[in-house]
Amino acid sequence: MEEKTCYYADYAATTPIAPEVAEAMAPYFEDRFGNPSSSHRLGRTAKEAVRLARDETASLLGASPEEIFFTSCATESLNWAVKGAAMQAFFDASPRRRILVSAVEHPAVLQAAESLRPFGFSVERAPVDGNGVVDLDAFRVMVRDDCFLCAVMHANNETGVVEPVEECAAMAHEKGALFLTDAVQTAGHIPVDVRRLDCDFLALSGHKLHAPKGVGALYIRKGRTLPPLIDGGGQERGERSGTENVPYLVGLGEACRLSREALAMGEEKRVAVLRDGMAQRLLSLGGCRVNGEGARRVPGILSVSFACVEGESLMLVGDLHGAAFSTGSACASGRGNEVSHVLRAMEVPEAYRNGSIRLSVGRYTTAAEACGAAEIVADAVVRLRAVSVEWERYMSNGNLAGI
Ligand code: PLP
Repeated sequence: MEEKTCYYADYAATTPIAPEVAEAMAPYFEDRFGNPSSSHRLGRTAKEAVRLARDETASLLGASPEEIFFTSCATESLNWAVKGAAMQAFFDASPRRRILVSAVEHPAVLQAAESLRPFGFSVERAPVDGNGVVDLDAFRVMVRDDCFLCAVMHANNETGVVEPVEECAAMAHEKGALFLTDAVQTAGHIPVDVRRLDCDFLALSGHKLHAPKGVGALYIRKGRTLPPLIDGGGQERGERSGTENVPYLVGLGEACRLSREALAMGEEKRVAVLRDGMAQRLLSLGGCRVNGEGARRVPGILSVSFACVEGESLMLVGDLHGAAFSTGSACASGRGNEVSHVLRAMEVPEAYRNGSIRLSVGRYTTAAEACGAAEIVADAVVRLRAVSVEWERYMSNGNLAGI
């Protein structure tokens, strides 16, 4: 029988669907089931719903509705931007054959970029500093005239660290390269403005902002061309075929509207207080570090590493006691104690690397729930260290070196 999770602290993996979103979607599963391509009344109703969803999504990003293209998820959006930009370079017979990505990108960008190698493209990864922030001096040197695309995420999904996207975009543009940012962990959580970020492409995902899984969007700046990856009936102005998933698009639109409201009401500050409270409790245990602590971070994500405890064990013990959180990103979990590419790129000290977890909170997390989750983690750390020979050694000589 399934145990009930008391404390959900895995918002960065996925967020609960907002009740208002579920309510807005419901009629489109029922009597408003039309296909937006149909000319009759049911079709026109569906088409109007998609139009409104596009307006709301554009508003959240400071974009024009014509610049928003709906997709099935952010993975699709990111693949489209990376592979589409490469296809365009090929069609233009451009000599640009290199893509520059940050070392801490989501696999949707890293793997899409790697997939281009057999076609004669090269991929370079720009390093980050100890806080996980892209090294701008290195980035400047690495953006050269042969780059067709640079990709730097707006915030990292494991640490919540916000990247210097505006600076990177400016450097990319100076060299004539296009610029992509993955805003999956920021859209709806901190202000995101495509004009200020100066990006050519931006990806977001419905399920990270209280809409369902299986819906996303790609912002394509007006004037930029990106060949479609999916050809067919010509939906999304011929750019992304496939009958529109109307209920999910309605959900995404409503989620974007709610996020704008929540941001205007100061949700960001409230959530950051929860995150910092959890950090304080865990740091008080000793032998604990907050990854990316010295950088600006999105309010809801806390990445912590403990010496002499394994993240995977912590996650399992936490789960047994009713707290849901990850060892890193959801897509990297289930890989045992393999250290994530993000923490490796940040050069998190050896003694801490295996003891990393991510707690992430958000709109519906109360102070009591955040405290409860932190207490469960703290308790698990103490229990696991009680049977750790390394911790005993550390306590007797106060030195983590060699552990
Ligand atoms: N980019 C980031 C930063 C993410 O956190 C995720 C999901 O975890 C994705 C991309 C992929 O999003 P989706 O689940 O919509 O494919």
